[in-house]
Amino acid sequence: MPNLKEAAALLARATDVTLLGHVRPDADALGSALALGRALRLRGAEVRVSVGEPEEMPETLRSLDVGGLYVPASELPESEGLLVALDTPTPGRLGKLAPRVDAVRAAGRDVLVIDHHASNVFYGTHHVVDDTAEATAVLVFALLEELGTEIDEPIARCLYAGLVTDTSGFRRARPSTHQMAAKLLEAGVDPDKVVREIVDDHPFAWLPMLSDVLVGARLEPDEARGFGLAHAVVTLDAARSVRAEEVEAVVDVVRSVREAGVAVVLKEAAPIGPRRRWTVSLRSAGGVDVSAAAGELGGGGHRQAAGCTAEGTADEVLGKIREALSRAPLL
Ligand code: AMP
Ligand code: MN
Ligand code: MN
Repeated sequence: MPNLKEAAALLARATDVTLLGHVRPDADALGSALALGRALRLRGAEVRVSVGEPEEMPETLRSLDVGGLYVPASELPESEGLLVALDTPTPGRLGKLAPRVDAVRAAGRDVLVIDHHASNVFYGTHHVVDDTAEATAVLVFALLEELGTEIDEPIARCLYAGLVTDTSGFRRARPSTHQMAAKLLEAGVDPDKVVREIVDDHPFAWLPMLSDVLVGARLEPDEARGFGLAHAVVTLDAARSVRAEEVEAVVDVVRSVREAGVAVVLKEAAPIGPRRRWTVSLRSAGGVDVSAAAGELGGGGHRQAAGCTAEGTADEVLGKIREALSRAPLL
């Protein structure tokens, strides 16, 4: 892989490292940051992990931070060391921590970008970017092997969390994906426990919320270039009794609909103006490229899992998504 040796050398000499994941982090962003952070901490470096939003780490991911490396964005010190951005294709996806990239570069210090998004804009001084990698965790694993780091159970658990979620439970996997997973299990990961904690652990209140949301789901068989579109809308009102984790899990139900090649879930975000705001999740069963449609609306992601934010009524946003999907490239 290009640049791996150079990036490993940069990490090997770093004594102070700030690792950032994208806003509203998933298991790949935080797992990758915490795994690399722990490895560097064990080598003696001063290390902290943070994200621009929200302040607190998502509840389902807290067990990944064995060493207490996570620092809320508002408490993140300005540091004199290396900045590492993980699973984050553009500085904008760092949210309110985005200005750190320019600040570190202006001070003549290094920014290492580790990512697997095809849309990465190479905003660092060093890059380990490979859009054929299933997860950023795969790239961190390769870096740790290059560094000769011993993979202990907490590191392995963080990497497994990113790998299992970004491959949708090893649905998108190559032989090398399972070879990496095998090494992580040999390091002591309990796969059932990890997946239960970060994917399959919802309060009972999720069921009435799902019922409320799914009763409004619609199937549009002719949309998404004829592959079919299933969509559902999660309003703030419907989500009032559950966590963000339950809201994010709705798309995994909607994407299992046989008649729909594309699933879309609109998730209402807290209002900051008079118009409704939404974060949108798009999933493709493999027929059309949803990252292109998300990209048209100012978002991004991967060909089969993408997202964006939008303003307006749910119908207005759905209209824009239908249009963008009608132009999305076939896979
Ligand atoms: P999500 O539906 O939030 O799980 O996101 C699916 C994928 O889309 C993630 O891997 C992100 O890379 C990407 N993504 C989600 N929201 C955005 C956004 N607003 N801008 C760019 N990429 C996004
Ligand atoms: Mn991610
Ligand atoms: Mn990822």
